[in-house]
Parts: sequence; C-alpha cells; structure tokens
Amino acid sequence: MTLVFATHNPNKLKELQALVPDFIQLKSLTDIGCTEEIIEDAPTIEGNALLKARFIKQKYNLDCFADDTGLEVAALNGEPGVYSARYAGEQKNADDNMKKLLKALQDTRNRKARFKTVIALSLNNKEYTFEGICNGAITEEKMGDSGFGYDPIFRPETYWETFAEMPLALKNSIGHRGKAVQKLVDFLKEKL
Ligand code: IMP
Repeated sequence: MTLVFATHNPNKLKELQALVPDFIQLKSLTDIGCTEEIIEDAPTIEGNALLKARFIKQKYNLDCFADDTGLEVAALNGEPGVYSARYAGEQKNADDNMKKLLKALQDTRNRKARFKTVIALSLNNKEYTFEGICNGAITEEKMGDSGFGYDPIFRPETYWETFAEMPLALKNSIGHRGKAVQKLVDFLKEKL
C-alpha cells in the first residue's frame, strides 16, 4: 500500500521508509505533486499535524500522515509551543529563537521544558494521533553544534549533554520524534 508522508524532505522520507513495514510504500509531497504551501495556522501542535494530514486527504484522497513539533517551556506557560519555528519572527531563524528564549528565562530558575511531537495519521477515512514527549531543561547558554533548532540549549532529562552535543542516533532513540514515530510504526504493524 501507499502512504503519503507530508514532507518535502527526502532525508526524513528515507529515514521513515526504513522503519515502516516493507509492504508500505511511502511517498513525499513532492512525489504526489503537491507544491502548494500548507498554512500551519492551528493553535496547537496536534491541530497543525491534523490540518496537514486532512489537507492531503481532502485534496488528493490519499492515506497519509503528518508531524508537528514544538518546545514547551514550563516557566513560559508552554511557550513557544506551536510557535517554536517562528518564535523570534517569520524568518524562522534558530539563533534568533534561542537568543529570545534565553533572554526570556534569564532571571528564571525553573528551566523545565519538553519537546512534543504529534503525528496525525489519516487511514481508511479514520484519524489517529501519536504523541512523543522528551522532558528536559533549557541550559543557561548554547552548548554543542550538531542538530538543529533549539538543540544547543535543550538538555534531555538524565543526560549531561544537550541534544547538540550527543550523537544523532542517541538523540533519535530518546527524543520526542523517535518516540512518536515508534508509536506510529507499532500501530501500522498491528493494524495492516
Ligand atoms: P517541525 O514541526 O518539525 O517543523 O518543528 C517546528 C520547530 O520546532 C522547528 O523549526 C524547530 O525550531 C523546533 N524543533 C522541532 N524539532 C526539534 C528538535 O528535534 N530539536 C530542536 N528543535 C526542534
């Protein structure tokens, strides 16, 4: 069977293709000829994932899944959350976002934060969601230079290193996205 993954990123597609059962053929947005931008304007992470999956289902009538991720900081009542990519502005610059977050927390001792990924699946006219959480804390300064986004200032619980200081395989095995993907894969293996 064919399942669309709502991404244009060939690396993300390849990574997921290796995890799903062999009889599932994943296709990207590029593969199905979807070139228009899907406006992610839902007020929640789950809402944005569902919005993307519904867009593909309605427009192309194909089974599909979509993901959305945000960083929720306890002392900021869950911000930047759904606005993580554009926290410091529409230019979506990771350095600007980290600078703004460190400034917002500069007098705050409560550094607790978590990454949350939601994957929304539209399959046989039904919708399902899968959540992956990674608890941790925001550091006082940037550390490490691998990864992307907020990785240099996020230290996962029980680790001394930030995401940007650890090997990608370790980040994937303990991280939010990996956990959500695992739930999706387990579901597909059982259901199909
Ligand atoms: P997306 O939904 O995967 O595009 O993620 C939205 C935003 O959250 C990204 O632009 C990043 O700023 C941030 N983000 C998502 N996943 C990660 C991660 O694994 N590490 C650091 N930042 C992330």
